[in-house]
Amino acid sequence: MNTKLTALIDENRLVQVTRDLVRIPSVNPPGGEKPVAEYLLNQLASWGIEAELIPEPDPNRPQVLARLRGNGTRPPLLLNGHMDVVPTGDPSRWEFPPFSGTIKNGRLYGRGSSDMKGGLSVALEVCRVIHTAGIPLSGDLALPFAMGEETGEPGTQTLLERSGYRDGFAIVLEPTGLSVCVAGRGLAWFRITIEGKSTHASIAEQGINPIDMFLSLGPAITKYNEKIRQRRHPLCGSATCAMTMVHAGEKENVTPETLSLVLDRRINPGEKVENVQQEIEDLLVSLAESDKNFHAHLELIHQYEPAEIPPDISQVSLLCRSVEQATGEKAVVHGAPFSTDARNFINDVGIPAVVFGPGEMNQPHTLDESIRVSDLTAATRAILNVADKLILNIS
Ligand SMILES: [Zn+2]
Repeated sequence: MNTKLTALIDENRLVQVTRDLVRIPSVNPPGGEKPVAEYLLNQLASWGIEAELIPEPDPNRPQVLARLRGNGTRPPLLLNGHMDVVPTGDPSRWEFPPFSGTIKNGRLYGRGSSDMKGGLSVALEVCRVIHTAGIPLSGDLALPFAMGEETGEPGTQTLLERSGYRDGFAIVLEPTGLSVCVAGRGLAWFRITIEGKSTHASIAEQGINPIDMFLSLGPAITKYNEKIRQRRHPLCGSATCAMTMVHAGEKENVTPETLSLVLDRRINPGEKVENVQQEIEDLLVSLAESDKNFHAHLELIHQYEPAEIPPDISQVSLLCRSVEQATGEKAVVHGAPFSTDARNFINDVGIPAVVFGPGEMNQPHTLDESIRVSDLTAATRAILNVADKLILNIS
């Protein structure tokens, strides 16, 4: 640990900035990130740090890109976070009002406290400390803060295109309880539309009822799910396929014209969306071959690619050592069952990225979401140590 750096950490400010951010309700949808972006920009500007609002991909929801410039002899360190939070649900079900930032028993409460305004606050403090220390940098420290992560919008992707970074190391500060996540599952949502032939229900045998067809498709999907659950990733666990939405029928006495079924397919690192789509297509073809009345088509409606990096690269080892020094506990390296913007770094521009941040993994999107205040300091200390070894020019 570089004590010159860690001595500059301002714990009160870390908590206050997190609290200020929680008190700005940047709920998405509809996407209220703008006041958060302006708050972050003002903080950075007040410390004399270069930062700009990025009007793409949506000028009404600007993003933030801040940098401390290095001399270019080392690749950059990027600290990424998203500024949006998910809706609160019924606020009366919260014990602490969702945008109050109440602090009790060492925890700060509110929507976004862990996911991920605590992470934004940590990134900001790392940047402020390094800037204040006045140590020259070999590589840039960059803070790309994104809009629209919770709804899968191209926030981080646009920031990476704009910044031009193509190497270095990235930390995505989603809440991991200070464990180090090196792999994340992707997902694909498919809609299967079964075509029937509508008739009056009293003469249903003269039409084709897509609900009857669904009764043979359902078990085939269940069997497919059992098969792919055997495909285990060492860190992410099983691939899965779940039926999540089904819709058919307009009236009690009419057989429906069509039935639509939505599948949520979780994709492990090593699997490809196009191969998964082909597997489901094959399943529909084999049902059509065994029943001439079965007509269905498949549509990919949303996707995230999975992403992973080798768990033994030097930056991961450095972060693990830094976590151990900051917390006194052994760092855990793992995979996540969900997907994050780490995929944009790894898949889109080839920058190795981990997900690592303050706040426990069971907090996001819950009622009375909260963060352990001590996590904020521990994460700041760990990331400062990483920055010290990767981008600071200490001769
Ligand atoms: Zn998040």
